[in-house]
Amino acid sequence: MVYYSSQQIRRVRVVKRADGYYCQFLINYDREEKHEFTGSVVGIDLGLKEFYTDSNGNTVENPRFLRKSEKRLKKAQRRLSKRHQKGQKQSSNYHKQRQKVAKLHLKVSRQRKDRAIKDALALVQSNDLVVYEALKVSNLVKNHKLAKSISDASWYQFTQWVNYFAKIHKITCIAVPPQFTTIDCSVCGAKVYKALSTRTHQCPHCQTVLDRDWNAAINILKKGLKYLGEYLNGTVGQTETDPNDWGESGLWVFNRDVEDLSRLVEPVISRSDSGRIPRHSEA
Ligand SMILES: [Zn+2]
Repeated sequence: MVYYSSQQIRRVRVVKRADGYYCQFLINYDREEKHEFTGSVVGIDLGLKEFYTDSNGNTVENPRFLRKSEKRLKKAQRRLSKRHQKGQKQSSNYHKQRQKVAKLHLKVSRQRKDRAIKDALALVQSNDLVVYEALKVSNLVKNHKLAKSISDASWYQFTQWVNYFAKIHKITCIAVPPQFTTIDCSVCGAKVYKALSTRTHQCPHCQTVLDRDWNAAINILKKGLKYLGEYLNGTVGQTETDPNDWGESGLWVFNRDVEDLSRLVEPVISRSDSGRIPRHSEA
């Protein structure tokens, strides 16, 4: 248990949730963690099947317990709408079911948040640079496909936590625009158009065969490194806004040590793309 002085408490708020009242304290406290810099860089691609795939080919699954409670919630919601009587006073059965739905909803959102925090922290702890695709927040509400909207909402929450932990660990975090990340060949750069159902990237130009999401994750990382290179060259400014809200590329640079940052860019340059990524030393 950590104790705070009364001067550190900025605001107290009482909130009502489906299962009771809660007291929230807003604490003035600068959290900072010591980050072990290893030079590891990663790009991540959101998926419907997997929660995300990273540029090293690793996947993080959507946990089974979460899918289970989401299913239970959907069922309860269906039952609720069956009990709804148009233009009439609702029955006590309806109200009971409404309570049930609200509690399930709360449970799912807590489970999702817990999971987002754990996954985001693990990702930030083991990398010095994290690149992800920016999501247009305005598209979040517009999407009518339930599975897609659920995954978008949890993805958005996850990236918010990644940003938060990146700040605390003082690592670099970049959101890149999503154009062409699934189409481009991550090896030769050729455009390889594919249907949504095509799970494998097969390049007719360089014969690369890769999992579709893995290919995208590598492209996302490459884009991020390109932005980082431009940032180091001073051709792009630093953005303070939420990159997701912005819907365009946003660079969240918390580690201001330029030497450290250029070291991040260089090992990847030697592996590929040396012509395309601007070098800090050329500035
Ligand atoms: Zn290719």
